[in-house]
Amino acid sequence: MKKDEYGLKYWADENFIIDNSLVKINRDSKPALLDIVNEAKKMGYNTPLILRFPHLINKQMKKIYKSFNDAIKRENYSGEFQAVFPLKVNQYNGFVNEFIRYAPRYGYGLEAGSKSELLLAIASNEHKAPITVNGFKDLEMVEIGFLAKKMGHNITLIIESINELKNIIRVAKKREDPIPNIGIRIRLYSYGSGTWAKSGGIDSKFGLTVTEMIQALTLLKDSSILKEFKMLHFHIGSQINSVQTVQKAIREAGQIYAELKKMGAFSLDTINLGGGLAIEYGQHKSTRYKNYSIDEFAGQVLRLLKQVSEEKMVKVPNIVTESGRFVSAHHSILVTSVLELFSQDYKEKNLKLKDFNPKVVDELVLIYQKINGENALEQLHNAIDHLDSIETLFELGYIDLQDRSNIEILGDLITKKVLYLVKKEDIIEYDTLLHKVEERYLINASIFQSMPDFWGLGQNFPIVPIHHLDKKAVRPASIWDITCDSDGEIDFNEKAPLFLHDIDLKDEPYYLGFFLLGAYQEILGMKHNLFDRPTEIVVDITKNGFKLRDIKESNSSKEILESVGYSDKVIIDKIERQVNSLVDSSKREETIKEFLYFYRERDNYLKFEKNRRY
Ligand code: PLP
Repeated sequence: MKKDEYGLKYWADENFIIDNSLVKINRDSKPALLDIVNEAKKMGYNTPLILRFPHLINKQMKKIYKSFNDAIKRENYSGEFQAVFPLKVNQYNGFVNEFIRYAPRYGYGLEAGSKSELLLAIASNEHKAPITVNGFKDLEMVEIGFLAKKMGHNITLIIESINELKNIIRVAKKREDPIPNIGIRIRLYSYGSGTWAKSGGIDSKFGLTVTEMIQALTLLKDSSILKEFKMLHFHIGSQINSVQTVQKAIREAGQIYAELKKMGAFSLDTINLGGGLAIEYGQHKSTRYKNYSIDEFAGQVLRLLKQVSEEKMVKVPNIVTESGRFVSAHHSILVTSVLELFSQDYKEKNLKLKDFNPKVVDELVLIYQKINGENALEQLHNAIDHLDSIETLFELGYIDLQDRSNIEILGDLITKKVLYLVKKEDIIEYDTLLHKVEERYLINASIFQSMPDFWGLGQNFPIVPIHHLDKKAVRPASIWDITCDSDGEIDFNEKAPLFLHDIDLKDEPYYLGFFLLGAYQEILGMKHNLFDRPTEIVVDITKNGFKLRDIKESNSSKEILESVGYSDKVIIDKIERQVNSLVDSSKREETIKEFLYFYRERDNYLKFEKNRRY
């Protein structure tokens, strides 16, 4: 990767471009993210901001339908294609509202995995597209399924255990209403590839074994509801990184489908592939996340299902997908500012050499002075030899604090000089040296709140400065968040290095964009340290610029504390008691007002400063 391109050609899918030093949205007027951030600021909303771009949701929805429908034509496939969006991937109103605006164009449906998701799916699905229901189904959940059917929804309850089927049979006997479609989730031998592989395979948490499947078929027949059994479902894991894995699972599922039809499942006409369609998160050639495109994925699915169906002489199945990540990841970006650079970037002027220094200090000074293009490696090795002895020398009292500081500075100066003089390929220690001079960028955000999968699974998300891109980014960077948790850090990774700019934050702000955050991150984000969701803004790109709408402000501390059970009244009472007993009476009112600023206002310090006189 050229340092300043941030791998856009791998992950950005032409949604974003770098132009004239700025990251821009590649649509219509091509506005810069920086202009959007500045406009929000003018309206009183500061970073961190979650920016949502609805056109990118539509783009992905369209892509799924186009790829499958093109493949249907190409393969001369007689089945139909249908997609549903799994709500678990992003239930936030700011996303779902936009998704629902586009859904009727495609007849795009919803998948629900819990009661609340199911109720949301029913309410949101006014266009009566299909609803699929996964997850644990007790009697209440099954009743909600029947309610949806009564309301005219095309709903399929996908059973994950025999007990769930028994619940459906029990409710069907009790109610006069029509019975929802029934699906069965099968536990394939095949499992996914990558981080989420354990969602599939014979030991996975979900689905019926083949033996249970045969048992379910008998139960369906005996209860006279076999005609409702229409869908075979599997999900082998999210972010499947290899198409070979998909091929294997499709062959297996295709065989099971055909066998079930031969065993009498006469209404069965659909295979639901679950999710798993991967997106590219990698910012570097060497860290790519998948080996296939959506077109290849769709083509493989249809080709293999057609092949198996022809061999077994059954009608090809209709196809449903439940892709979530693919639909929602691209649309949302977190933009936040760098608050501080924890620089250990020393200059010669920082050295405080004594008249008489310990030998090790003099030696390091000499090395620093002598290094040149020819001897850099040899001098580096000499320096490392000296630096290795410091800990012992300090512990034994041979060097004092000032000496130790001089050694620290000399170590840094020598490292930088070597990095400047040698080529990466000429030095084995290159990556270690980069680590030594890495800069820590403190961002105004919480990794636990905004990128929980980085914390939990080591999932990378593309990081790009949204401006200054005309200058070379020279600093090997690690990102620190503002939680007081040492896990709130994105380390410098020499295999996928991030370089950022040398910015003087006193003169200008420095904004970083964190991309592809629209899948799973929002709902999995946690309030560790009581850092809550940033302000959210929906951005429409127009021919002449952009429009900001549906702004949902971040919560104040009062609201965050309320969300974890503290009542406003109790907090205020406690503050008043303390102020009345501890603060001079002339200052009491002012002190309480001061507390209220920090407690109730968003961007509290900015407002506090403005209103210092209350
Ligand atoms: N369907 C089911 C049953 C799932 O469990 C999941 C996610 O875990 C999905 C669909 C969505 O998967 P993805 O976001 O990888 O497309």
